[in-house]
Amino acid sequence: MPTLPMLDKNVNNSPHVVLLGAGASVAACLQGDKNGRKLPVMDNLIEILGLQEILDRVGLPCKSENFEELYDDLVSNKEYRSIAKDIEERICHYFSEIEIPEEPTVYDYLILALRKKDLIASFNWDPLLLQAYRRNIQIQRLPQVVFLHGNVGMGMCYEDKRIGYLNTLCEKCMRPLGPAKLLYPIKHKDYSSDLLMRDQWNRLRNHLRTGYWFTIFGYSVPLSDVDARELMLEAWKPNPTRELAQIEIIDIKSGPELKKSWDEFIVGQHYGICEDFLGSYLYQHPRRSCEAFAAANLMVNPWKENKFPEARTLSELQNWIQPLLEEEVKYEKYKDPFRYMTS
Ligand SMILES: [Zn+2]
Repeated sequence: MPTLPMLDKNVNNSPHVVLLGAGASVAACLQGDKNGRKLPVMDNLIEILGLQEILDRVGLPCKSENFEELYDDLVSNKEYRSIAKDIEERICHYFSEIEIPEEPTVYDYLILALRKKDLIASFNWDPLLLQAYRRNIQIQRLPQVVFLHGNVGMGMCYEDKRIGYLNTLCEKCMRPLGPAKLLYPIKHKDYSSDLLMRDQWNRLRNHLRTGYWFTIFGYSVPLSDVDARELMLEAWKPNPTRELAQIEIIDIKSGPELKKSWDEFIVGQHYGICEDFLGSYLYQHPRRSCEAFAAANLMVNPWKENKFPEARTLSELQNWIQPLLEEEVKYEKYKDPFRYMTS
């Protein structure tokens, strides 16, 4: 028998886990970043970052359009290691310059749609999610965020094992946090030897073990990354609520293709696919996805839809979630049940 999610006074304390891939950053900046810089995916990264120029220097033909395949070829050949280094620098530089547009992006909506119990795990190197997090920080009740391949906006003091924003001070030695390592796409990645990587992956795995919703946004498991898939599956499979849990895939690829690539994670018909964030359950039930889903499916007593508005400014969006925040405070302080959206 699957275990029912932890429901208490209409509150579902099981986490909602969101996995982000390059497609999510593209969706956050459809017209490019604040300065018009394009956000790449693996299939156009070579072109957008102008990496061909580096390859041309040594007369290396680009055998594949896909960056992951190219990079793995480069590092497995001693002769080309220095080229790989140049490419890493170019990547780091390009992503460091990315700036979030002023108007609310998909990442602002996403961050405000989740609560402290929830987790966003991103495979992206760009700093957009961190920038969105920082500008919503006054809300306080934000989800946890981890970066599974490192991030250019993240800093680390390896000596004192402290993680934070790049260049902010380490609370122990008071020196600025240095850049955290980025993990580049090689066939067999080492997710456990680096302290930061190990911590970030462990946090994702802990959430997958108890998650009730699992949203996969703009991320296709690259065939080369068998380790990432295995690590996630290993944590997701023994989850006692998995048989009742829901998977939602936000992606522009075709339904059958997506279903096939996540088949091992899906139980029965407990999955949904939508093309963009506006169609997602998180957009329709911000901050209440796990409650609304449990009410509809376990109690057969669906909640009213409480869709986000299409906000033009960030403060409009932040004001809109106020009643939800207030309800959360009342539950924590006085154990008042959630009733704002119950029918
Ligand atoms: Zn330190």
